[in-house]
Amino acid sequence: MHEYSLAHALLDGLTEHLRAHPVSGRVKAVHVRKGELLVLSEEALREAWRILTEGTSLAGSELRIEPVPVAVRCPACGYEGPVRYTDEEGWHFAVPVLACPRCGGRADVAAGRDLAIVALSVDEDLP
Ligand SMILES: [Zn+2]
Repeated sequence: MHEYSLAHALLDGLTEHLRAHPVSGRVKAVHVRKGELLVLSEEALREAWRILTEGTSLAGSELRIEPVPVAVRCPACGYEGPVRYTDEEGWHFAVPVLACPRCGGRADVAAGRDLAIVALSVDEDLP
């Protein structure tokens, strides 16, 4: 399952981070940014997170998923920024166009493809 391996990678990364930078308190929420091009079920990802963190210090923490729009970098003209979206009738959502909006050339994806942890919400221990 795709979401399960993504959750596993997140947990591995976070565990390593917390080993190097321990927090005093319980992690309440883990904020992640999900690229628009990364197709996944947020529900399945949260469920995988719940299962994988069971019995760890991160048990009970909540994944907060924030979408990241696609950005491209154009090797031909140097454009870097957001892409255009199709707005054809009949689509239920706009589809990003992976071409340079300035010169129309083939552009490289600069953002919007990954899943990354950006922040943690921690319940500080009260004295
Ligand atoms: Zn260009």
